[in-house]
Amino acid sequence: ELSLDQLADWLRRFAQIVDENKTYLTELDSAIGDADHGANMARGTAAVVTHLDEANTIDALLKKAGMTLVSTVGGTSGPLYGTLLMKMGMATGAVTELSAEEFSKAFRAGLEGLVARGKTELGDKTMVDALTPAIDAYDAALADGADLHDAVESAAQAAAAGRDATTPLVARKGRASYLGERSAGHMDPGATSSTYLFDALSQVIG
Ligand code: ADP
Ligand code: MG
Ligand code: MG
Repeated sequence: ELSLDQLADWLRRFAQIVDENKTYLTELDSAIGDADHGANMARGTAAVVTHLDEANTIDALLKKAGMTLVSTVGGTSGPLYGTLLMKMGMATGAVTELSAEEFSKAFRAGLEGLVARGKTELGDKTMVDALTPAIDAYDAALADGADLHDAVESAAQAAAAGRDATTPLVARKGRASYLGERSAGHMDPGATSSTYLFDALSQVIG
């Protein structure tokens, strides 16, 4: 089970990890983008943290967090992460706890929203390349009888592998796609920040 407080802590930890790595994220974005991914994500997630205490239900928490990202991040990544969290919130209902399975269902609804908004698919060298294998690994672990902790560990490992696998890819979406073949050989910044979602979750579950 994941409580409202744990999910608020999840977003708090995500903001902290983003902040600790904002220079690195911006370095990655300077190679194949416009050198603002770290600043975008740090600004957006810091704003999210200021609203976490307002919500009394998980749907309200996630919807508010998503709307805050959409409205505070100028870059492409804000509306996409924002959609992930908003659609996730729309899928949970006004509850204060999620089972391990309910978390996955909600996350998948969010990811579908992100994919639709980004008009993207697996292999385009985006955040989707970390998020999709992560939630697949999570579900596979649960199906194998793993507990929430081990499922999240599996997800974090799969997210990192998905992130690493973006390096040789040619980008087909976003600013990196303007570089064509020259985008190959660089890790995707959004796939990198996406792995922090699962690192943060694993820290919250302990
Ligand atoms: P911007 O490119 O507007 O400066 P950011 O630098 O904050 O925005 O975010 C760039 C990241 O956004 C990329 O590394 C990629 O992972 C992600 N991204 C860009 N376009 C898309 C898309 N259409 N679908 C999914 N993710 C995308
Ligand atoms: Mg950028
Ligand atoms: Mg930008």
